Amino acid sequence: MESRNQFGRKSSSLQLRDVTKVFPQPDGNGEVVAVNHVSLDVSEGHLVTLLGPSGCGKTTTLRMISGFEYPTSGEVLIGERNVANLPPNKRDISMVFQSYALFPHLCIWENIAYGLKVKKLSTDEIKAKTRAVIDLMQLQGMEMRFPNQLSGGQQQRVALARAVVIEPSVLLFDEPLSNLDAKLRVYMRDELRSIQQRLGITSLYVTHDQSEAMAISDQVVIMKDGLMAQIGTPQEIYENPTSMFVANFIGRANFLEGTLREIAQSGQAYVTLGDTAIKVPNPGKSVPNPGEPCVLTFRPEHAGFVESGEEGIPARITRCTYFGSHIEYEAMVGETPVVVQIYDPQHSRRYAKGDTVRLAIDLDSARVLRRDQEKEGV
Ligand code: ATP
Repeated sequence: MESRNQFGRKSSSLQLRDVTKVFPQPDGNGEVVAVNHVSLDVSEGHLVTLLGPSGCGKTTTLRMISGFEYPTSGEVLIGERNVANLPPNKRDISMVFQSYALFPHLCIWENIAYGLKVKKLSTDEIKAKTRAVIDLMQLQGMEMRFPNQLSGGQQQRVALARAVVIEPSVLLFDEPLSNLDAKLRVYMRDELRSIQQRLGITSLYVTHDQSEAMAISDQVVIMKDGLMAQIGTPQEIYENPTSMFVANFIGRANFLEGTLREIAQSGQAYVTLGDTAIKVPNPGKSVPNPGEPCVLTFRPEHAGFVESGEEGIPARITRCTYFGSHIEYEAMVGETPVVVQIYDPQHSRRYAKGDTVRLAIDLDSARVLRRDQEKEGV
């Protein structure tokens, strides 16, 4: 599909259909399946982020879309067109790199206008479009400077200006903010998202940074070993992870091992954790079969401590850290460490290392998952 957004620019969908990339091992011994039958749909004007641990296939996926690599099999569709075997300059895409990749010997104006000159637009058109993008990126007054006379954040804005000025159908981002310091990174990611939305450019973004992915994406793809482990909105992925790997990769997650006893008709799951029987109202989409081992997963902010009585699971505090907005406790449930974050510390009871407590989990927010072989995400 291809349409025009409110600025009159064209925007296309991006699709990967069953894309695989196999590399020969550099030492000649065998092969590496870098991307394994991945299918993905990025709707017009949406921003989708690929996130996952090092070596999971993010960059290879991006490079197959940009044309710097060709898939071993599968299709890359921009709009209706399969571009999988076209060179980069025939794909109607732009890319923003971590290293900015500006021409050092050209001033900012010339850097931005370069792509329009290559496209052989008229002098008037080049002038008008370059001016408009300089205004959009708030780069006024810097037109005659050279890249080395700009800060990192300004250089990245020039790189983005240069990418969008040619009005590509699809914009690709390869860890564009990794070279910026933490504060500027947060500022730039909001700016980048705002510009992407205003222009309505279909975008694919690669990052290692999960908070960046959560903040800017319509959808996040969690990749693992060349496969898509899960795709969803940031909220879906955080609230309803379908595996221990994903739960652990996005945010922090606790896992208590147990057995799934029964799933009621209403969808509730009955789980036993050691001696404790619990009922989980919304166990999620990836529950194992009754009788099988499972894990109960919950976020640190979805648990607390109750004072006494029969409620809760016995635990012992092993660490207590004050963060201002919250206190973080580590408590042992049997042999399993559990992290609990209590917000509004001024008004809550404090516990100390060594205290025996009872852990109360907000079971509405907890999910039941199969036990993964490997839960480590990072
Ligand atoms: P990172 O976050 O570290 O950049 P990534 O998720 O982008 O990692 P890729 O660079 O796509 O991962 O690599 C996926 C797998 O493919 C890795 O095992 C990597 O070693 C392998 N690989 C990538 N490029 C090549 C190549 N040209 N030849 C051989 N193997 C490669």
